[in-house]
Amino acid sequence: MTEFEGLVAVVTGGASGIGLATANLLSSRGATVVALDLNPDVKDPLVGIRADVSDDDSVKAAIDEVVQRFGRLDVVVNNAGIGAQGDVTANTDAEWSKVLDVNVLGMVRVSRAALPHLRKSPSAAIVNTCSIAAWAGLPQRALYSASKGAVYSLTLAMAADHVREGIRVNAVAPGTADTPWVGRLLDSAPDPAAERAALEARQPHGRLVSADEVAGAIAYLASPLSGSTAGTILAVDGGMYGL
Ligand code: NAD
Repeated sequence: MTEFEGLVAVVTGGASGIGLATANLLSSRGATVVALDLNPDVKDPLVGIRADVSDDDSVKAAIDEVVQRFGRLDVVVNNAGIGAQGDVTANTDAEWSKVLDVNVLGMVRVSRAALPHLRKSPSAAIVNTCSIAAWAGLPQRALYSASKGAVYSLTLAMAADHVREGIRVNAVAPGTADTPWVGRLLDSAPDPAAERAALEARQPHGRLVSADEVAGAIAYLASPLSGSTAGTILAVDGGMYGL
């Protein structure tokens, strides 16, 4: 299938995990895909451009470069994100600022730079990577959950603002997905294999969500297959906390 033939997509955090799986899927369906990442080391046919979503100049330069090189921009996947652990006492103000800056303002910066170009596309879509942490009330995730709660609300507000100009905005909300990020967390446990088994056993479908499954949901929301869908948060969590 070639839902994205002739279209240009950017995926932030596109060099690892969910972002890389999404970049590969959109590319396999016909898009020219640019991974914007701190470490944009991706294989052909993906294009990597270094960008830091917490730096407005870096974001603007990267989006300008995409449009200069490829002539258009149709799809934005706001996926770059970082984690934080602990209750509300665990993180300093500087840590709160940093995580909110990357996870929330990062999406604002990329969207702001991309919107003038998306307005010219007949098939414009923004998909934000939220998390079930936005509404699940997970323990020891105060800062991360707050950041994703903001992504949830931002997605609804952006959808309302931009649907009339032909730009659909939606989000996916993964449960625990098997990515390098989660691998790093498991590796820091005293017994990573036992920790993984316990985590899998807690999932209703008995396993972690795959990055490809999240990518599938993102591709659906980015494609004309979801042409009348805007302001939706699509849970990809095996039914654990799904809306
Ligand atoms: P990952 O760590 O494998 O990949 C994240 C990518 O983002 C990395 O390539 C990293 O270099 C990039 N990145 C980080 N900060 C950046 C910045 N300032 N500018 C540009 N790029 C930056 O992580 P993942 O598990 O694939 O997570 C991707 C997204 O999915 C995140 O928004 C995360 O919150 C969300 N998510 C993940 C899970 C999960 O269980 N893995 C669950 C729910 C939501």
